[in-house]
Amino acid sequence: LVVLRRVDKHFGTLHVLRSIDLTIRRGEVVVVIGPSGSGKSTLCRAINRLETIDSGEIRIDGRPLPAEGRELARLRADVGMVFQSFNLFAHKTVLDNVTLGQIKVRKKDRKAAEERARTLLDRVGVAAQADKYPAQLSGGQQQRVAIARALAMDPKVMLFDEPTSALDPEMINEVLEVMRQLAQEGMTMVVVTHEMGFARSAANRVVFMADGRIVEETTPDEFFGNPRTARARDFLSKIL
Ligand code: ATP
Ligand code: MG
Repeated sequence: LVVLRRVDKHFGTLHVLRSIDLTIRRGEVVVVIGPSGSGKSTLCRAINRLETIDSGEIRIDGRPLPAEGRELARLRADVGMVFQSFNLFAHKTVLDNVTLGQIKVRKKDRKAAEERARTLLDRVGVAAQADKYPAQLSGGQQQRVAIARALAMDPKVMLFDEPTSALDPEMINEVLEVMRQLAQEGMTMVVVTHEMGFARSAANRVVFMADGRIVEETTPDEFFGNPRTARARDFLSKIL
């Protein structure tokens, strides 16, 4: 579904993605972990073209990423993204947050869009908050709204970049639970996270990055049970 071939990216003299090869199949849950600055966020952002790449190629459903215009808006809808910092529209209600993209990009009428929005808000457990503004919600609730907003676009794949890092501990699980549910329903997901419990239980594959490279790519059992590289062992010893 998503294929990266020899992808390179620099920020000035900093080489942040080094010849990345990665294939994400339909229905797969890929967890990306690695030290700070290893390029995890840049990798996610490249997949929905929030960052351009210097060389190599990224294809979704066999097609190269569009550069601009309507095609780019559609790509961003096809590739749902959930950030660490919820990124909801602050001056719109929860319901509007989940409705607007459907109308603008997917060309749905308001009634259909609102119906779908309410169904999704119910599914992530925040239906009662539909008419509130993001600032009136807890962090966990805001993040669940952000997930509903991305899902409302009927994405082909969902990217999560440390979705629980900004949350108080008691709210982390409610967000992970929604993500687990999605994974079980067969959503294709790329998840950058330090939640090793989630990685163990929900991932089909773990990708370990360091210094802009994919250093290990294997099953969660292999990765946690028998990491092959010193980099991975060192990383795991610090976070487990
Ligand atoms: P973290 O775990 O801290 O989120 P990360 O693995 O997500 O780290 P990236 O955010 O992808 O790492 O950053 C990789 C490197 O690129 C870092 O050294 C970062 O400082 C640098 N970088 C990221 N974005 C930019 C930018 N827009 N301009 C310049 N340098 C950047
Ligand atoms: Mg990051």
